[in-house]
Amino acid sequence: MIIGLLKEPAHETRVSLLPEHVVALKKLNVHVLVEKDAGQTAFANDEKYSEAGAEISSRNSIFEKADVLLCINPLDANETNSCKGKILIGFYQALFNANLISQWNSNNCTVFSMDMLPRTTRAQSMDVLSSQANIAGYKAVLLAANLFPRYFPMFMTAAGSIAPAKLLILGAGVAGLQAIATGKRLGAVVEVFDTRPAVKEEVMSLGAKFIEVEGAADASKAGGYAVEQTEEFLQRQKAKIAESVAKSDIIITTAQIPGKKAPVLITKEMIAQMKNGSIIIDLAAATGGNTECTVNDQIINVDGVTIAGNSKLPCSMPSDASKLYGKNILNFLQLIINKEGQLNLNFEDDLVAGTCVAHAGNITNDRVKQLIN
Ligand code: NAD
Repeated sequence: MIIGLLKEPAHETRVSLLPEHVVALKKLNVHVLVEKDAGQTAFANDEKYSEAGAEISSRNSIFEKADVLLCINPLDANETNSCKGKILIGFYQALFNANLISQWNSNNCTVFSMDMLPRTTRAQSMDVLSSQANIAGYKAVLLAANLFPRYFPMFMTAAGSIAPAKLLILGAGVAGLQAIATGKRLGAVVEVFDTRPAVKEEVMSLGAKFIEVEGAADASKAGGYAVEQTEEFLQRQKAKIAESVAKSDIIITTAQIPGKKAPVLITKEMIAQMKNGSIIIDLAAATGGNTECTVNDQIINVDGVTIAGNSKLPCSMPSDASKLYGKNILNFLQLIINKEGQLNLNFEDDLVAGTCVAHAGNITNDRVKQLIN
């Protein structure tokens, strides 16, 4: 079997595999083609890929020869024909890109959208959402610390005392939990909201305060993902959040619902109540943002509050982001490659079936199918 590693579009710094992952694939009897300069922005050069046993190739040659194409981002629309009949594996956000999946399907591609992986214990080693969200949570706090005109930790010095920064985190998923841990390490006092009461213990074990709002919709049957809340719950939550927002110095928002617009948790009025110099880092910016004012990919100032809308923070740490993403992909590839290095798609396996969105001319995921127009 031949796996082709493609160079990502210009805005991307990460790459699907690093040379260390190529070494592991060679042991699985797989031949790896790497597009020239594919790993450059992740600090992995062609020489290192060659030493690992890969063959450096042109993009066209990869389209011609590879059975499996690896690219984190969707391929360019004008390349749809070039990937006829191929297996595509990437972070395609299938619930937001259903029409693109449909186009690939018309070209007989088998598409694995890694963000659709079920959130089960066995899936953890392949969970690209988690490995990348962990980086986003860590970097969100560092970005906030850079933008914040004050210290994070408490200081008692001869020149006076500094109170610790008050950090509020909305959404305690993977990114939120890492943001708590990082904020605590820097000495902030941390408060957290989430609609899933199950995270209360995790939040408290990290030394943060969990703010409870009664009556959230039950997400226990949603495969670990959040579900939409009732309007009545959101109103009560808003009132509770408003109290915390007004006294916070820094807010990191991470609340997302797969396939849906992110919930607006912070209104213009709440922002107007914040102190001058406060910071909001909105990790949900790409899906609409958790504040009414967020602009995706921009840092703006609203009433003296800096709001950074940034859903691309994993790209700011391309080496480790690629190291973890590549290991996730390697673990997933091991599910679909047999000992002889041949492709073996077992759709009885819930992880293979759950991640697959198109196969043999069919859209295989019902939610994606419903979203095609
Ligand atoms: P996510 O990025 O989808 O959402 C971030 C957080 O926002 C979630 O905790 C969610 O509950 C919260 N949220 C959504 N709407 C909200 C609202 N209106 N107000 C406040 N908070 C809101 O989350 P994620 O990091 O992808 O994690 C989702 C779930 O999957 C978690 O339960 C996590 O523990 C679970 N998980 C399981 C595995 C596994 O077993 N393989 C791996 C990772 C995560």
